[in-house]
Amino acid sequence: MNVDGLAAVITGGGSGIGAECARVLAKEGAKIAVLDLNLEGAREVAAECGGVAIECDVTSSESAVKAVGEAKEANGIAQLLINCAGIATPGRIVNRNGPLPLEDYEAVIKVNLIGTFNMIRLIAADMQDADPMEDNERGLIINTASVAAYEGQIGQAAYSSSKGGIVALNIVAARELARSGIRVNTISPGLIDTPMMAGLPPEAHESLSKQPEFPKRLGTPEDYAKLVLNLCENVLINGEVIRLDGALRMAAR
Ligand code: NAP
Repeated sequence: MNVDGLAAVITGGGSGIGAECARVLAKEGAKIAVLDLNLEGAREVAAECGGVAIECDVTSSESAVKAVGEAKEANGIAQLLINCAGIATPGRIVNRNGPLPLEDYEAVIKVNLIGTFNMIRLIAADMQDADPMEDNERGLIINTASVAAYEGQIGQAAYSSSKGGIVALNIVAARELARSGIRVNTISPGLIDTPMMAGLPPEAHESLSKQPEFPKRLGTPEDYAKLVLNLCENVLINGEVIRLDGALRMAAR
């Protein structure tokens, strides 16, 4: 698909990976709607992109319905959805204080997995009515999993479960939405240098940047955004989960 003039909705677009996707897609001519819980971040990014900032809690049906409606009103039916909203709250299954509170587990599943599904269902419902493009393609949905879907580290029980759910959802969604000419792909990043990593002490940051096999550096939001453009361009990539990690395989801890 040619993204020039295309309406794009980016969740978690007010920070990190989502923000860079918004900037890169805007440069290519896409009409951007930045959806985020963090409205201040969304506003800054939208201003850079000539797009709209919309407050959205992806875990809430009501909030997402409202946000998708506002995005449609501003830019028309979205033909590109990038699901980047996410949280990575760590927690062991059992720690020295006892079992992980169930609500801590639920909170991560709600944002990462249920939030992704919530956005897919709402955007796809509109996307199926969009004008078809080349190959009768109507749109593309890109979800964000993580290498933690495969090699979750100790303390990532909730995060890994949520990202594994996104990986499993990918092919089902691609199969179902194929009838409408909608592709679904998922990117599983390794270590990407974003505000999500900013809380780490410099030694940990340094040590993590040596973990990938090659290149020996942290990934950047630009690396991710480039893959988004590749996925837009190549209509044959569908139902795929792509690791973006420099052959990184995280150890248990
Ligand atoms: P980030 O900079 O923290 O951006 C995530 C954005 O999502 C934040 O603006 C956050 O807002 C927002 N958000 C959180 N909960 C939300 C909700 N309920 N509704 C709407 N927006 C919400 O993180 P990032 O590093 O760019 O991560 C983007 C995605 O990549 C996430 O799904 C993450 O799991 C995945 N990922 C990242 C890495 C990495 O190394 N960075 C690796 C693998 C996968 P607040 O700031 O208000 O919370």
